[in-house]
Amino acid sequence: MTDFATTKALFHLPEGMIYLDGNSLGPLPKTAATRVTRTVEAEWGEMLITGWNKAGWMAQPSVLGDRIGRLIGAEPGHVTTGDTLSIKVYQALAAALEMRPDRRVILSDNGNFPSDLYMAEGLLRQLGSGYELRVVDPDQVADALTDEIAVMMLTQVDYRTGRMHDMADLTARAHAVGALTVWDLAHSAGAFPVHLARDGADFAVGCTYKYLNAGPGAPAFIYVAPRHAERVQPALSGWLGHEAPFAFDLDYRPGARIERMRVGTPPVLQMAALEASLDIWDQVDLDDLRAASVALCEQFIAGVEATCPDLVLASPRDAAQRGSQVSFHFADGYAAMQALIAHGVIGDFRAPDIMRFGFTPLFIDAGDVDQAIAILGEIMRDRLWDREAYKIRAAVT
Ligand SMILES: *Cc1c(COP(=O)(O)O)cnc(C)c1O
Repeated sequence: MTDFATTKALFHLPEGMIYLDGNSLGPLPKTAATRVTRTVEAEWGEMLITGWNKAGWMAQPSVLGDRIGRLIGAEPGHVTTGDTLSIKVYQALAAALEMRPDRRVILSDNGNFPSDLYMAEGLLRQLGSGYELRVVDPDQVADALTDEIAVMMLTQVDYRTGRMHDMADLTARAHAVGALTVWDLAHSAGAFPVHLARDGADFAVGCTYKYLNAGPGAPAFIYVAPRHAERVQPALSGWLGHEAPFAFDLDYRPGARIERMRVGTPPVLQMAALEASLDIWDQVDLDDLRAASVALCEQFIAGVEATCPDLVLASPRDAAQRGSQVSFHFADGYAAMQALIAHGVIGDFRAPDIMRFGFTPLFIDAGDVDQAIAILGEIMRDRLWDREAYKIRAAVT
């Protein structure tokens, strides 16, 4: 059994704050500061250029990729890290499209995160006429899978509501019509067990600054199924994805398997923070994590519904169809969230009216949830949100 009291003690959590936003930016692992300082002082400072070999900087993207691989059910040697998630979405989508040259349609849903759709739009513009990004309601995806579809590109968990797609089922349906799949795991990796290999996913991408707690700007990851690993043609054919970067050939030859999905110089300092966060993940059993996450979410839903009649559940009521977050609709949700933050409970707001709360058993326990319910209940009952100061929108909501 994973001891979540132990994992909680491994994070720096500001005094007096209940942090229900680990789904947006995970908290600081206590060892990350010393781990990053070591990289700065002992590696960058002392080793300088030799750090690429001596400190293992060059190998790190795929070493850390494999440690993430355990969390998402990937085969060893088929995940690498680097760049940002938007870039990895582009890479996966471009590679998948190229493997279906006779088809022109990408299928996605309107619960997807805008950046994924924007990246698809930009890629299709480059590819020229005839291509189409088809965006349907999340519950229409299965019916929209036809033999026109080249790639089904979905984010498994809706960032606003927490609604979860059935990866095994939709992947099988996509394959049945000859389509490939790109799964975005931004709100899945570290939220619950993911089974990429078992479920037959073709490509997957995700970030490490949300549930994986590797800090702002931490690298993204990408998975390519072993059966495609030697066939994909990287569209972002940078030198570190080359078969022999230090041969400095004038022509690009893709590297072995997942190595070809690397692009350029990895963010070494940020990789050090990721390493520290993965040291905590190494201690976590994902089935224990899921059970604890469901319990916290259910506790929160029950408590909020009992005390806040104005809030309407926006997430699926059935835990099996929900990720590790709970959202409520409320017309003045922005102001209510600002009031809540002012009272020490941190969630976030997503337009037009969603108050969003992430539940991450690594550092949130039942006592935190009880306190959050009590504070939210008071804010709603006494209309503490109804102040001008809480209605002024900041750049990041
Ligand atoms: C958070 C998130 C992103 C953000 O992409 P970045 O390039 O890391 O800024 C993209 N897609 C999804 C589905 C997300 O949840």
